[in-house]
Amino acid sequence: MEVTDIVKKAARTFETPFLIIDLDIIEENYRKLAAAIPDCKIFYAIKANSHPRILERLRDLGSNFDVASIGEIKKLMNLGVTADRMIFANPIKREKDIAEAYDLGVYLFAADSTMELDKIAENAPGSQVVIRVAVENTHSDWPLSRKFGVDLLVAVDLIAYAQKLRLTPVGVSFHVGSQNYDPHSWSNAIERVAKIFYWAERNFGIHLRVLDIGGGIPIKHVKPIPTVEEIGEIVLQSISEHLYGVRNLQIFAEPGRSMVGNSGILVSKVLLRCQRGSEEWVYIDAGVFHGLMETIENFRYEIEVDGKESEQKIPFVLAGPTCDSVDKIYDDALLSYNITLDDIVYFINAGAYTVEYGTNFNGIPSPKVYFLQDLL
Ligand SMILES: *Cc1c(COP(=O)(O)O)cnc(C)c1O
Repeated sequence: MEVTDIVKKAARTFETPFLIIDLDIIEENYRKLAAAIPDCKIFYAIKANSHPRILERLRDLGSNFDVASIGEIKKLMNLGVTADRMIFANPIKREKDIAEAYDLGVYLFAADSTMELDKIAENAPGSQVVIRVAVENTHSDWPLSRKFGVDLLVAVDLIAYAQKLRLTPVGVSFHVGSQNYDPHSWSNAIERVAKIFYWAERNFGIHLRVLDIGGGIPIKHVKPIPTVEEIGEIVLQSISEHLYGVRNLQIFAEPGRSMVGNSGILVSKVLLRCQRGSEEWVYIDAGVFHGLMETIENFRYEIEVDGKESEQKIPFVLAGPTCDSVDKIYDDALLSYNITLDDIVYFINAGAYTVEYGTNFNGIPSPKVYFLQDLL
């Protein structure tokens, strides 16, 4: 999303910090992915941004949803999304959440351990399960593969174990890591997990039919990214190479960031500029606890200073407003040399994983959310 006149006007009207979202961009993202991988069942990973207006728009488009807790399930149900449109994809669930989800009608769960399968069999008997496999996460900004997923051989054992527990193992899932820049991460992952389909059939007579390609599709920040069309083409190509023999194959995707990231701009304001030793610091009213949590791992946003876009840029230490030293955004943010008190600072394409992490730390409220559609 670009800093348009409407965004600039909002920046002068509303108290900062806030996130401004264009719902039409989210709709476009959904449609583009649906076209890039036809017949793919899209489960929006709502932890990226679970604002009800976003969920309603995706609900009306026919999206399904990837949920991680009973809180997310209930939030969706209150918006009229039925349980059969959800996958409980977090491989680490509370037992009572599993039981409650099952009572509400959720029948599709992910797991990557025997204990989790035991918990599902006990609390959601007979449910469908997908087994999460660890795949290469090297070209992503947020690797996930050490915390989640198992090796191929373990995955096949878990599939057999699930069947023994009278669950219904339907397929495998993976995640190439969030904000992954290399489309071949998906084809490499598909080539790997394809073996599981054949082994499960041959060794245990279990027919798997779900290939869940997870999330990880990137949005534009400071580095070039592949388009969703390019990723889709590579996914389809590798499916036709490695899974051509699988009857009734159903592709699932769990996009989070790529559904909402480019739909929003985080708008903040300068609270202080000062010299600390040899460094120049700029403090703004958004920060690690207020919308910019992802910057703790040096996740890079494109930043613009309102009205000073064409000024010469020099490096500053950029920090948030709270009394915690973790609340430092970048050591080397390039900002207009004459940035000063009350200047408006935009973080471009900040619709994902920003307000969802908002805290009330130091009594400073989480950034509010406004929608472009309400301001037109
Ligand atoms: C967070 C998450 C996603 C979404 O990942 P993105 O990189 O935001 O697209 C998908 N699947 C699972 C299981 C997740 O935990």
